[in-house]
This record gives sequence, C-alpha cells and structure tokens, in this order.
Amino acid sequence: GAKARGRSAHCFFDESMTQAARERLEIEARLRTALAQGHLLLHYQPQVDVATGRIEGAEALVRWQDPEEGLISPARFIPVAEASGVIGPLGRWVMHEACRQGQQWRAAGLPAIRLAVNVSPRQFQLDDMAACAAQALAASGLPAGCLELELTESALAERPEEMRQVLQRLQALGVRIAVDDFGTGYSSLAHLKRFPIDVLKIDQGFMRDIPASADDMAIGATIIAMGHSLGLTVLAEGVETPEQLTFLRERGCDSYQGYLCSRPLPAEQFAQLLQTQQSAT
Ligand code: C2E
Ligand code: MG
Ligand code: MG
Ligand code: MG
Repeated sequence: GAKARGRSAHCFFDESMTQAARERLEIEARLRTALAQGHLLLHYQPQVDVATGRIEGAEALVRWQDPEEGLISPARFIPVAEASGVIGPLGRWVMHEACRQGQQWRAAGLPAIRLAVNVSPRQFQLDDMAACAAQALAASGLPAGCLELELTESALAERPEEMRQVLQRLQALGVRIAVDDFGTGYSSLAHLKRFPIDVLKIDQGFMRDIPASADDMAIGATIIAMGHSLGLTVLAEGVETPEQLTFLRERGCDSYQGYLCSRPLPAEQFAQLLQTQQSAT
C-alpha cells in the first residue's frame, strides 16, 4: 500500500544520500592527499588584447593529475573542495603557484603578463584574501600589478560590506579585481559600482551564439558599453570563432580568452607560446 511505498521511497532516498556522501568523503580524502603529494597543477589560458592580438595575461586554471584516473577537471573537485573546506589550502596553493610561475617567466625574460587567479566565495570566508595575496606576492617577488583575482557575482552578494573592505585592501596592494562569469548572476552594474572592481569578464554563454543570436549580440554590446562607461576593462570569455572576435573588435571590447587563441596549456607550452609571440614582433 501507500505506506510501504512511502517507506521504500524513504529508504532509497537515504541510501542514495549515503552513497553520495561516501563518494564526497572519498574524493575529499584523495584531494587532501593529492595536495600534499603535489598532484595538483595549473594550466594557463592566454588573455589576449582584442586590438593588437598580443597576449597580455594568463588565467591560472587548476587540474588534478591523478596517478590512476589521469587529468581531473576542476568541475569535479572544486565543489567538493568548497563543501569540505579543502578549498582553503587548495586556494592558497593556487595563489602561491601562480605567483611563483609568473615571477619565473619574468625572470626568464618572457614578455610581461598578468596572472589571473580564481577565488571562490568560500575562500573569502575561510581566509583573509588580502593577506593571502600579500604573502604569495612577497614569497614569489611578483609585482602586485601582475596579479588579478577573479571572483563571481555571488561572492559579492554575501556580506557585501566585508567584501568591499577586503577588495579595497587588495586594490591598495595594487592587485586587480575581475568579476568572472558576468551576466549569469543577479547583480546589476549599479550593485557592482559599490565595489573596487577593475575588470568585467563576460560569461562564455553569451559568446556561444554570436553572431547567430541578435539577443546575445545586444547583451554583449550592452555589457561592453556599460562596463566602459563605469571605467572598467571588459574581457569576453569563450571566444572560439573569428566572427566572434570581429564582433568584439567592432564593439571595442578590450580583451578575450578562448579556444580561438588557445586552450588552457601546461606551463611549459604556455611559455613557448609567449616566446613565439615575442620573436614574431
Ligand atoms: P572559469 O573561471 O570561468 O574558467 C573558464 C573555463 O572555460 C575553463 O574551464 C576554461 O578551460 C573554459 N574555456 C576557456 N576557453 C573556452 C572556449 O573557448 N570555449 C569553451 N567552451 N570553454 C572555454 P576549466 O578549466 O574546466 O575551469 C572550470 C571552472 O573551475 C572555472 O571557470 C573556475 O570557476 C573553476 N576553477 C578553475 N581553477 C580554479 C581555481 O584554482 N580555484 C577556484 N576556486 N576555482 C577554479
Ligand atoms: Mg575564471
Ligand atoms: Mg569565467
Ligand atoms: Mg565559468
């Protein structure tokens, strides 16, 4: 009867929860080991000046090189890292590693670029991100002006006053602040204006159907124009085709990232790309 069905549905639900929780715990434990054993690494995706085509920066994107599974994408482990708090040590490692690598490239005489590091909302709760950035800069010797932190609109939604103060301290250090995946959250540009922000990154979802979608072209053009009117630099993510780049050039977008220039690359390959650019000019 209904009662039996109700009970079995309840049991099934409990079991699947246990299963999911067990999987999460397992990934969490393996992730801590990976961090301790140096199985995390960064890939770097070029950020390109739309007008000149020159690489002006690199976004650092974390990967997990598992001895058995191979390369694991951040989509699979960042949520676990956030839920468990492992994002604290993981995020500090990413910040230090990106700064160390950036300074090594500078020391090797490669063209000067900026390093962009992703910071999730949870990291702002767990850590003093201004202190964390200051430590990574001091330890590496990278100038603060070469570091950019990417945060999402949702990070600005929670405890806005505290966030404003941390961002102000970061800006006082000389670190740039970018809003990642802009247009997917609920924050208006009016809300953004309350924070010391330097860069808007237009979410890749808006690029996908350009030039086929008149709506997405209108949204893209509006974000670029409004960003500029607020004195912000605007970068488009997920640029895959020459048509998309033409659109951005016509609209005066400052920079872009995407497969059109390059996928995220291991450090060595990224350095080769930078080197090639240097010798081409
Ligand atoms: P994100 O910060 O928005 O990074 C952009 C994502 O888009 C990257 O995925 C990148 O590989 C992908 N992408 C770049 N160009 C193109 C393109 O032309 N077409 C398409 N379809 N995709 C493109 P990835 O590396 O898998 O990273 C996924 C997300 O994981 C990132 O999104 C970021 O939110 C998060 N993440 C990555 N590394 C870190 C990290 O070190 N810390 C934190 N907290 N989050 C990270
Ligand atoms: Mg990002
Ligand atoms: Mg993004
Ligand atoms: Mg994204």
